[in-house]
Amino acid sequence: MQHKDANLPQTAASGAGADASSSSRRFRERFKQVVASSLYHSGLLRLAQPLEGTHELTSVEGSRLPRLRRFAGSKFGILCYHRVGTEGVPLFSRLEPRVFEAQMRYIKKHYRVVPLGQMCRELHEERPVAPTLAVTFDDGYRDLYRYAFPVLQKYGIPATIYLIGRCMETGEAPWYDRIFAALKAAPVTTLDVEMETPRSFVLSSPAARAKAACEIVCYLRTIPDARRRKWCAAFESRVAPLESDLSDRMLDWERVRTMHRDGVSFGAHTMTHPAVSRLDAAALENELGLSKRVLENGLDAPVEDFAYPFGKPDDCSPAAEEFLGRSGYRSAATTSEGHNAAGTNPCRLRRLQIGDSTAMSSFAFTVSRMLLEAMPISPAGISSSPSQQALQVRAESGRGAL
Ligand SMILES: [Zn+2]
Repeated sequence: MQHKDANLPQTAASGAGADASSSSRRFRERFKQVVASSLYHSGLLRLAQPLEGTHELTSVEGSRLPRLRRFAGSKFGILCYHRVGTEGVPLFSRLEPRVFEAQMRYIKKHYRVVPLGQMCRELHEERPVAPTLAVTFDDGYRDLYRYAFPVLQKYGIPATIYLIGRCMETGEAPWYDRIFAALKAAPVTTLDVEMETPRSFVLSSPAARAKAACEIVCYLRTIPDARRRKWCAAFESRVAPLESDLSDRMLDWERVRTMHRDGVSFGAHTMTHPAVSRLDAAALENELGLSKRVLENGLDAPVEDFAYPFGKPDDCSPAAEEFLGRSGYRSAATTSEGHNAAGTNPCRLRRLQIGDSTAMSSFAFTVSRMLLEAMPISPAGISSSPSQQALQVRAESGRGAL
């Protein structure tokens, strides 16, 4: 987890190597911020914006500088948020409401913003359109109603919120939030945990506790989900979270229906937020099929869109994709970064994760870069070879999300 970008690392590292790599990552982040700020405040970013729809940046072998080439077609970007607000879980994400409002004002002014369903239709059409954005939120935290909904109404921005079925049924926060809350509340300064290899975490500061939680959640994403559930139960018997950190954090039906009536659309995000690549066939039916039915019953409307929990290539699977295809879903969103265009697999839509940065320059630069950067020839779909997926995982290591 990196507080500044609200993201959970795909792989957690430790020791001297990790320190060196995190120092190098900090330097790259800082360098990116300086570049973003310079381009934004000098006006160069605005000058480059007309190129977003007509050109793309490609890498050139043997050169550190990218090449600009013509692009024919339309580009579609999907913004991925988690929560808007700063109190309580999710502890890994804190986006100030005023920053969110500035971002919505910015995209409304500079881009075409459409509902996700319209974007899905336009992806299949030949008709050229200007660079287009859609706005999505994962997990269904309650502060979306308080902070995001009024802003979406104010600027007339359509949005899709992906809900977790069991959270809607019980009001409970998801399992990974319980891990973060348990680590936050643990009344010890060292904690031994059985993972792939035994680990001993030093919980000397809030940041160290968050890092430990992050590493544990990353590990739990890699094991079969039935084993993960047992692990979590055993863990909570040793280190219990405070219920006060977890209560009243998720959206309920009343708030969901109010937003739905006002044009917000809803998609499924499984029943219990597992990494779907770790599910067997019966669990796939339960997580993907049942969550759709639960939401459709609650909304009294079709639910056609899905977001993979965590959403990196290793968290998705051809079996899940195939199940989604025959279960009446029209789209499935990942957290693989990039824009979408004709030929993108609708069951592996790419999204741009928006972190906690308060700098508008950083937001504007990241959106622009997402639209300008050329995508791989093979879209992020099942046609990717294992080696391509491995490359993507490595490239995205450190930028995972929930
Ligand atoms: Zn999620």
